[in-house]
Amino acid sequence: MGKEKKTETLNAVYEKALALFECQVCGTCCRGEGGIYLQEKEIEAISAYLQLPRESFLKTYCLEKNGRIYIHVQADGFCHFAREGKCLIHSVKPSPCRQWPFFRPMLTDQPNWEVARNSCPALAPYRSLDDYLEGIRSD
Ligand code: SF4
Ligand code: SF4
Repeated sequence: MGKEKKTETLNAVYEKALALFECQVCGTCCRGEGGIYLQEKEIEAISAYLQLPRESFLKTYCLEKNGRIYIHVQADGFCHFAREGKCLIHSVKPSPCRQWPFFRPMLTDQPNWEVARNSCPALAPYRSLDDYLEGIRSD
């Protein structure tokens, strides 16, 4: 299969997986070290959503590491925008948050599926991506 065809297939799987997904709003995926990396267009979008000038947004909600901008992590380990399992900037949340839990590597690799499955209770019942897409539970 050519590279273009593979990408097309993977995109179709991604869309299907996302359409089936039912988040349990547990908030687990918004907790972790390091914060979420922001691209420039995401900084602009979130600043605009919060009605803040870019510099105010950066100063209040972000930190810079090695020339890259990340959303600040609170003392409890949760992202600054996480509240009771929900995202305060849901409509403009950055790319990693939009893709989770269906990052490309986990669509193609069983060990990565297991990592996501162990982190996300909405995936826990499914032994594999195929099982998930077919709605087969492990129990
Ligand atoms: S931006 Fe929203 S979805 Fe992403 S980690 Fe923060 S609270 Fe969670
Ligand atoms: S870990 Fe899974 S179920 Fe929990 S909030 Fe994140 S996506 Fe939703």
